[in-house]
Amino acid sequence: MSERGLLIVLSGPSGVGKGTVRKAIFDSEGNEFEYSISMTTRQMRTGEKEGVDYFFRSREEFEELIQTGKMLEYAEYVGNYYGTPLDYVNQTLDSGKDVFLEIEVQGAMKVKEKVPDGVFIFLTPPDFDELKSRIVNRGTDDMAVIDERMKVAREEVDMMRHYDYAVVNDKVDLAVDRIKKIIESEHYRVDRVIHRYEKMLKEF
Ligand code: 5GP
Repeated sequence: MSERGLLIVLSGPSGVGKGTVRKAIFDSEGNEFEYSISMTTRQMRTGEKEGVDYFFRSREEFEELIQTGKMLEYAEYVGNYYGTPLDYVNQTLDSGKDVFLEIEVQGAMKVKEKVPDGVFIFLTPPDFDELKSRIVNRGTDDMAVIDERMKVAREEVDMMRHYDYAVVNDKVDLAVDRIKKIIESEHYRVDRVIHRYEKMLKEF
């Protein structure tokens, strides 16, 4: 049987650029991990595709999946549900592949409770002004949504202390590099690999 894969969680405040960094990671070469496509009840934005960016579902369908235990985690964020379908994550990890989630912080903390040996990476802005201008310049939401996202972002930044790694998103390609190095190194942690060497260690 193959070893179970690693669960990698990329999270951070609204507007920090999680989606951009995640896309750049998956556009880059040499990844050996699979992206878990999230489910959401929010409206599809221009350019988005069903089953690529998200699985877009009604609130009723989403709530049904919550009630039947089909979500690894979910969060209600600015009036919509977002969540990670459980079956895909389990099947992929069981097949020995790593799974990469890009989710907001409430959901990440729920995953941490359920999967404490996951790799929790917090993407941080260089400073708060930078985050504010990213939220305002995004231009996809109206002012009420922007204000709500800023309020949420302030609380979210403080969640950094609960993560294993903090990666600054000053430049996307640098952030991508840092995250890929973290994932690679995690595969060599002694607590993850010692079982492979037990026989050899006994023989010495
Ligand atoms: P957006 O509406 O801009 O695509 O995403 C809003 C927020 O939801 C982002 O912070 C994104 O990381 C987060 N998000 C996307 N998918 C999931 C998910 O499956 N679970 C949780 N908890 N958050 C998610």
